[in-house]
Amino acid sequence: MSLSLHSGAFGGTGPALLVHGGAWAIPDEVLADHRRGLREAVAVGRDRLQDGATPLDVVTDVVATMEARGTFDAGTGAMLNQDGEVELDAGVMDGATLDYGAVMATQRIAHPVRAARRLLDAGDGRVRMLASEGAERFAEAEELTMVENEALICDRERDRYETIRRRTDELHPSHSFLPGAPRENSGADTVGCIARDKEGRLAAATSTGGTPFKPPGRVGDSPLPGAGFYATESGAASATGWGEAIAAVTLASRSIDDLDDGTDPEAVVRDRLLHMHEAVVNPDGDGATGGLLLMDTNGQAAWAYTTPRMARGGWRPGDGLWVEV
Ligand code: ASP
Repeated sequence: MSLSLHSGAFGGTGPALLVHGGAWAIPDEVLADHRRGLREAVAVGRDRLQDGATPLDVVTDVVATMEARGTFDAGTGAMLNQDGEVELDAGVMDGATLDYGAVMATQRIAHPVRAARRLLDAGDGRVRMLASEGAERFAEAEELTMVENEALICDRERDRYETIRRRTDELHPSHSFLPGAPRENSGADTVGCIARDKEGRLAAATSTGGTPFKPPGRVGDSPLPGAGFYATESGAASATGWGEAIAAVTLASRSIDDLDDGTDPEAVVRDRLLHMHEAVVNPDGDGATGGLLLMDTNGQAAWAYTTPRMARGGWRPGDGLWVEV
């Protein structure tokens, strides 16, 4: 199967943010809703950056906005696992300090990115990642918003679950991200945000419900620092796509390593996705696909994807707010 690689870039000093709402075969009938969801999220990030919020606060609030919407595979509206339940993953990282927090396979936490952020804020580095019940107990103790797990499920995902259940033998998680993906398997729209303030400080966050019909307890790249998200003093990255492959090539942190070697951000995101495509292959022989956002401390940013589509948007003072799917 021939690979199509799409990319774009923008540059300029000052604050900036980039957002994604997942890289996959996004069906035509949900494009308008994706654009609305991106616009709403980018506007929140823009307002927060203009108010002087830290990049860490910006990425947390942008991702929480997308988790609340029901449009994306994150928070409310996430895809269901094989038991018909939602299990959520999220991670957030501060480039200035290398502090991060992540939660995985959680239930009942309305905003996993806020639970990840509380772990980051705990500050002493004793615990950075919590899974399932441990994460839920932590979120409860932190008085974060807890809901019945059922309340995170929407009709769209119930329907998808019922359809997939009848034909699981034919489906592989990597299929969601390929051209011609079976429609009922096409639903993995993870969200992510990277941001820079006017001093060049950086942060990254990613949140997901994972891949369709995943086994209970399955964790992909999204809550793994270095894989689905990463930030340092020099770069910030958020990834989306086939999580098992993204984790195998530690897509986010290796992209930032390439920036440190002096490579231009757009060249980095293109080359890293091509490398993943060649390095990780599914049982049908198809190379892994996905999407990636990357920003450096000097004002350069880029995005790329090898899936049929990626929902993306951004803002910086000169360009204003934009969204594309
Ligand atoms: N990377 C996510 C996962 O594998 C899914 C996605 O980005 O759509 O859990």
